[in-house]
Amino acid sequence: MKNESVKICCDAFQWMIDSAGHSGFSIIVAGDISDVVFYLQARAYDENQENKLDNIPRTVDPPKPFCLKMQNVIQYCPFCGTSLKKIASNNSSKMELLIKLHMKYDLSMQ
Ligand SMILES: [Zn+2]
Repeated sequence: MKNESVKICCDAFQWMIDSAGHSGFSIIVAGDISDVVFYLQARAYDENQENKLDNIPRTVDPPKPFCLKMQNVIQYCPFCGTSLKKIASNNSSKMELLIKLHMKYDLSMQ
């Protein structure tokens, strides 16, 4: 993913895009090239470690609400305030690639 870096607003935003699918906060690029959507996403576990949770024996159900991952649409860079529509329109080919790469992380698709 690092070699697919997008020229964007700031290093913090780039780092968040490169963190897609990992535990902690990340930025997910979704939608389609004519209407790019950016999500601020939080995960308790890396995407490839979630299936390990299925094998943990449970004697009680987790408390509700119990959330291991969540996302919310954002329209501006949370670090520098740049319009994400502007970033998307200036990087259309990279956005198209990121949409494909991030599709498996987009919680609205699950
Ligand atoms: Zn920024």
